[in-house]
Amino acid sequence: MKTIVIDPGHGGTDPGAVYMGYQEKTFNLSIALNVQRYLTQNYEAEVVMTRSSDQTVSLNRRTTLANAGDADFFLSIHNNAAGGRGFESYIYNGSLAPDTQAYQSIIHTTVYQTASKYGVSNRGMKRADLFVTRTTDMSSLLLEILFVDHPDDLALLRNSSFINDISTAIGEGTAKALQLPRLAGAAPSHTSTLYKVMAGAFRSRENAEQRIEFLSQSGTAAFIVPAVIGGEAYYRVQTGAFSKESHAKAQVEQLQKAGIADAYILTGSDSSESPDPGNDLYRVIAGSFRDRNHAEKRVSSLTAAGFPSFITTIELGGLTYYRVQTGAFKEVKHARALVNQLKPYGIMDAFLWAGSPVPPPPEETEDRWTILGESLMSGCQLDQFARSVYPVAPELGKYYVKYGNLYGIRGDIAFAQAVHETNYFRFTGDVQREQNNFAGIGAVGGGAAGASFSTPEEGVHAQIQHLFAYASTDAIPQGLTEVDPRFGLVTRGSAVTWSGLNGKWAVPGGQYGQLILSIYERIVVDTLESIKTQQQSLQRILEDSKE
Ligand SMILES: [Zn+2]
Repeated sequence: MKTIVIDPGHGGTDPGAVYMGYQEKTFNLSIALNVQRYLTQNYEAEVVMTRSSDQTVSLNRRTTLANAGDADFFLSIHNNAAGGRGFESYIYNGSLAPDTQAYQSIIHTTVYQTASKYGVSNRGMKRADLFVTRTTDMSSLLLEILFVDHPDDLALLRNSSFINDISTAIGEGTAKALQLPRLAGAAPSHTSTLYKVMAGAFRSRENAEQRIEFLSQSGTAAFIVPAVIGGEAYYRVQTGAFSKESHAKAQVEQLQKAGIADAYILTGSDSSESPDPGNDLYRVIAGSFRDRNHAEKRVSSLTAAGFPSFITTIELGGLTYYRVQTGAFKEVKHARALVNQLKPYGIMDAFLWAGSPVPPPPEETEDRWTILGESLMSGCQLDQFARSVYPVAPELGKYYVKYGNLYGIRGDIAFAQAVHETNYFRFTGDVQREQNNFAGIGAVGGGAAGASFSTPEEGVHAQIQHLFAYASTDAIPQGLTEVDPRFGLVTRGSAVTWSGLNGKWAVPGGQYGQLILSIYERIVVDTLESIKTQQQSLQRILEDSKE
């Protein structure tokens, strides 16, 4: 059987390229884990990872691992930055192991076939003196998938179907290049012995649940497998399944170091991981929190990223945990795939849970984010945020603050609404830039263009006025005219919070308010960061002047 080493670039203290809080290392890891899974599920091959979590691994250790393990192929997965966009691949520019060029050609072509469907440009097959390609004894290839700091490329890296498709293409290309034999049947593990790692087995379900909570804190995904041993029911906590005993042993060692002394290996040819009888779903828990606010934040960032989610609660050892559930699947592999999809979003603490169903809670009614209120940010700060994504975004921040204050509306959050509606003022939807309609007033979908306003200022005014119609029953403040053509159509006072706009401003728009608030949260985070930077440089001026 051929051995393939997959090397997710960077990790741990080395984030790789960083842009707007997105780190190359997480994208690399997510793709690499997908490729690993794809290969092991579909082909006969031993796949070894240089890292499979967010850990620091030196370049030397990566290639030494491959050389010592006598691997057949070393595949390093990276993403690019600084000055460009698109896909490229590298092999060493010195002497090569046989077939390296053929491998590059097959894998590059296969990956690009998929990438081109997403409009990705082809930067070509390249040769360079890179550490990992130089110091590997076997054929090696380094892929630079996309540019983390190009907005279009970044959007793709944040798109779970792109990540899935590109990972599959990398797996396919690798299998084709190395002529890996395809596994008969769907589940590869049926054909060989599996070494399953159990992080404990418990008589009490609650203790098993607590163990899962503990593991999730360190980003280890685990789930419960009930078993009957000697006529007694046990709840086993499984964290992994490996075809090589050495890999399973390594994980047991890791668990023991983390304080789980009762971790052990369970061998069996049966790979079926069945959840509770009578409860046939694997739930993906994207984080579990003691503090409900943290869980709510996670829900809004997940929702913004396109993963609908909700909070469930569980009582363990007298404590309440707020779990963020973001999917439930009949098949464990689909649940696992979702756990991996969450990683590029920085969610490393997701885990699977096959416990008894927890009913989704009733719609959240408590909502602290009202539409009425004072703007907490300046016009400049708002503009700066929009321009960090779209450098030629119009300067509208001052109008949002001005009209917000005239009407007593949160102008800064209204700005976030405009960012959402116009896609950072790029106007990629039905509304045209010239309409000065920043909140899709009257644009009901299906190509309907909606209202037009004569100036950007009037457009902002209309949006604030429309919000005022929802949030208040008061008359338009004195001295201001009715500029919103739909003002009279709104049931006055029918939405006082941003999530109250769900299904009203945008139909169906079940998460409309949450989306706006998650953008607002990003504005706040970015602004805080730039304030910090400014503070540091001002501090330096003072220190310099003292010398
Ligand atoms: Zn890199």
